[in-house]
Amino acid sequence: MGNVNDGESALCAMCGSPIASKADTGRPSSYCGIACRRAGEYALKRKQTALLANEREQRSARLIVENPDSLEAIAGDNFGRVPQRVLDDLVEEQQRLEGELRSLLHSLD
Ligand SMILES: [Zn+2]
Repeated sequence: MGNVNDGESALCAMCGSPIASKADTGRPSSYCGIACRRAGEYALKRKQTALLANEREQRSARLIVENPDSLEAIAGDNFGRVPQRVLDDLVEEQQRLEGELRSLLHSLD
């Protein structure tokens, strides 16, 4: 990246191809065509699904951190990782996913 963008030579948010400037007065598109736009919408759905899964995992990780003597904490397999570390990683992942979700939403609006 790092190219100067004058707004006329936008690049497709999905494949990076230059987007032909439209003759009409509509806002410039973020995608070169319908296929890339659909791919963008699909990526958005996947990101939302990943965030939902992350929320679920955070809930159970938090339960284990808060109740270290619970059955879940004892039976749960964190692959030897410290429960707090598992939770921290999930929070970090959530922030990354939310950032990616935001930029996808910007490109689709
Ligand atoms: Zn494209």
